[in-house]
Parts: sequence; C-alpha cells; structure tokens
Amino acid sequence: RPLTYQVTLRAIGTGSSLIASFEDMTHAAQAGQMRRDFVANVSHELRTPLTSLMGFIETLSGPARDDAKARDRFLQIMAGETERMNRLVGDLLSLSRVEADERVRPTTPVNLRDILQSTLRNLNPLAVDRDVLLRPSFGEDRITLTADADQLLQVFTNLIENAIKYGAPGKFVDIGAETSLHDPAMRGPAVRVTVRDYGNGIAPEHLPRLTERFYRADSHRSRALGGTGLGLAIVKHILNRHRGRLKIASTVGEGAEFTVILPMDSEAAPADRAEKLA
Ligand code: ADP
Repeated sequence: RPLTYQVTLRAIGTGSSLIASFEDMTHAAQAGQMRRDFVANVSHELRTPLTSLMGFIETLSGPARDDAKARDRFLQIMAGETERMNRLVGDLLSLSRVEADERVRPTTPVNLRDILQSTLRNLNPLAVDRDVLLRPSFGEDRITLTADADQLLQVFTNLIENAIKYGAPGKFVDIGAETSLHDPAMRGPAVRVTVRDYGNGIAPEHLPRLTERFYRADSHRSRALGGTGLGLAIVKHILNRHRGRLKIASTVGEGAEFTVILPMDSEAAPADRAEKLA
C-alpha cells in the first residue's frame, strides 16, 4: 500500500514531504486498526466468562434451584470464571500502566539477585503444586542495575510462572543469571537472566509473535491453565523501558528458554561493579 501512494505522488511531481505524510497516515491507519483489534479481543475475552456466568445464573435460578449438589458445583465454576475475569482486568491494568511509563527511564539502583530471590519465594507454592522444582543457579553476589524493582519482579514472575505452567511435572525449571562486561547484544556491560523449562516447547512459527497481546501458541492449553495471553506483552513493555531485550529459544519436545538481557549502568556503584565483573 505505501508503495502505491509513493508512485502516485511522484507522478504528480510533489515533494518528499508529501510522501512522508502519506506514509504517516498509513502508520496511523495501522495503529487505528491495532487499537480496534485490541478492543475486539478484550471484549471477546470478557464476554466468554460472562456468557458462562449468565448461563449458570439462569440454571441456578431455574431448573437447578433445589439441587444442592449441582449448586455447589456450579458455584465453584462461577468462582473460577470470576477469577479469570479478575486476572484479565488486572493484566489489562498492568499493561496500560507499563505502556504509559515506557518512556520514563528508571532511576533506582536495585539488586537483581534480591528480585530473583523474591520471585522464587513467591512462586514456590505454585511450583510445589505442579510438581516442578525451581533450580536457581546464581551466586550470592550483588547484581546492581538501575531499574524499577516492582516491574522487574513482574517480568521474572511472568516468565517463571509460564515455565512452571508450560513445563513438565517432575522436571526442573532452571533460573540463571550471568553478568558480562561486553555483552554482544548490549555492546557493553549487561546481565543475562535465563529461565529454562523442559516442557513441550514452542514451534518456531510462533516465536516471533509470542509477545503480541493475546497471542497464544497453544490457545487451549493457555486457557485451561488460566492464562490471559498478556503476560509476555507486559514483559516486552517493561524491558523496552529498561532498554532490555528478550530472546526466546525452543526445541519442540525439549522445552523453552527465555533470556532477559539488561544493560548494566556504568555510573551506579562502580566499586561494586568492578568487584563483580573484573
Ligand atoms: P498466557 O497467559 O497465555 O500464558 P503469555 O503472554 O504469558 O500468555 O504467553 C503467550 C503464549 O506463549 C502462551 O499462551 C503459550 O502458548 C506460550 N508460552 C509462553 N511461555 C511458554 C513456555 N515456557 N513454554 C511453552 N509455551 C510458552
């Protein structure tokens, strides 16, 4: 489409500024389309549990009114659907918050190791529940970054929670952190945090789209596990704010590895860094 516009404009003999503005319009049209798709997706995601709730309310106030057993079961399902809607609304709010301050650089020095430890502590009950063993392999050393601690906690929570959910029961989830003075992706000092599971993995055609809102590689499994389809989109926005990157690698049948690469600030705590990275 943009190409067609360019050809037409050149034929008329107008300048490059007009060409540029037509391309901007194309971008604006694309942004508008994306917004409409997003609203349609949100509506659909909310309507599904709502329809189910309406059905159960109808049944409970009619045919199943005096059936105590059915009532208990239906109420349990309704609680589950309500919980799903609550999670979705929570993730939508997180997404809009992280998008809003994506351009505001974080300013607080944090110890990444503490953040990883808190994440593991919070998620251990879920791991135990799903018979997955969290296996951290990072040392005792401080890893100092300028970051938003709550947001990084959210990044690692989303990644490790996915590894537990999509990983295999009875297997490990490995969590590692390594610093380097010359990370090739960051062209400078950086830390790489890897989260690896040994589940079914992800087919290569899905990899480039995983951080899109509501994109799911295995829709049925995601829904069955209570996923909102927004976790990796939130991760992407938070990493953008931190000038970080996300790399995803997977072999189907062998598991998946998510690597977060974060630049390490050169000004903050130089003594600390010299000691760690030398
Ligand atoms: P969801 O709430 O569906 O888990 P996410 O945005 O966190 O949404 O992830 C998007 C999709 O990426 C998931 O639906 C799932 O198909 C896939 N995915 C994410 N992490 C993993 C993993 N560790 N192993 C296999 N698939 C994964």
